[in-house]
Amino acid sequence: MSARLLEGKPLAESLKSELKNEVDQLKGKYKTNPSLSVIQVGDNPASSVYANQQKKCADSLGIGYNIHRLSIEAKKEELFSLIDGLNKDDLVSGIIIQLPLPSHIDHKELILRISPLKDVEGLHPENLGKLVLGKPSLAPCTALACVELIKSIGVDLYGKEVVIVGHSEIVGKPLALLLLNDFATITVCHIGTSQKGCLNDHTKYADILVVAVGKAGLIKGEHIKEGVIVVDVGINKVGDRIVGDVEFESASNVASYITPVPGGVGPLTVVMLMKNTLTAFKLQRE
Ligand code: NAP
Repeated sequence: MSARLLEGKPLAESLKSELKNEVDQLKGKYKTNPSLSVIQVGDNPASSVYANQQKKCADSLGIGYNIHRLSIEAKKEELFSLIDGLNKDDLVSGIIIQLPLPSHIDHKELILRISPLKDVEGLHPENLGKLVLGKPSLAPCTALACVELIKSIGVDLYGKEVVIVGHSEIVGKPLALLLLNDFATITVCHIGTSQKGCLNDHTKYADILVVAVGKAGLIKGEHIKEGVIVVDVGINKVGDRIVGDVEFESASNVASYITPVPGGVGPLTVVMLMKNTLTAFKLQRE
């Protein structure tokens, strides 16, 4: 292996200590602490694991954390009324909707109902619009985590070829917009790129490659350029192992930096959620 590990944990720890100081200052100034409200419909085990990680992180920073668990049969009106109440509650700084949702509930409809000032997942059209205008306020946490990791190396993004594989609303699309602000040249690949057989033509010229697909081993060492910085967002269960979308063994012989999975993007994503909660708290008081 020649690549250096681009680990999320040390970065997450140093950001947490900055956030903890900020929470203490905000508490002193406003006599109340930032607080996150989480809505979970049903009891999906992966969603509960993620909620526990969020709670642990919030507790360690002094951020309030309240989870509202609804039955899998909850009606959309019930969720709307819960969101309306949380929107009005001055003690609630941020609202998130845990996925997956049952099929009778439309995630986008719930996001639209959340006040843009409390949309700490950065998915409300008003917040996505600000991203398009180059004035991000609350942006999607996983995309922010990728930016944080890339910038932690000190790389100058100006004119760099960034190739993003995956165009979801939570990773690929917002990340492309965030990195455009730094004048990187962005290529976004997706299923169409793969089906045309062109995916590797693009991944091979990337200076920075971000992969967020959810397919183990999609990108291998032979598909990337010597010295590329690889950020692997994917989380896939293969047997009893968790692996990314990039074949770590072969890619780490070619890349200059590579994120491990687990331990790369994941730990930072939760911290970005807390950072957004602080941002929301301040926005609501400005
Ligand atoms: P998603 O909404 O399913 O999006 C996947 C994207 O990959 C879509 O744009 C899809 O295109 C594209 N795609 C599918 N097959 C492809 C292929 N063969 N070649 C190129 N592109 C292809 O998933 P997501 O929510 O963005 O998550 C992606 C991965 O990241 C998952 O493994 C997820 O678990 C992980 N994740 C990790 C974190 C973290 O904190 N570490 C956070 C969020 C997600 P089409 O839509 O056109 O099919």
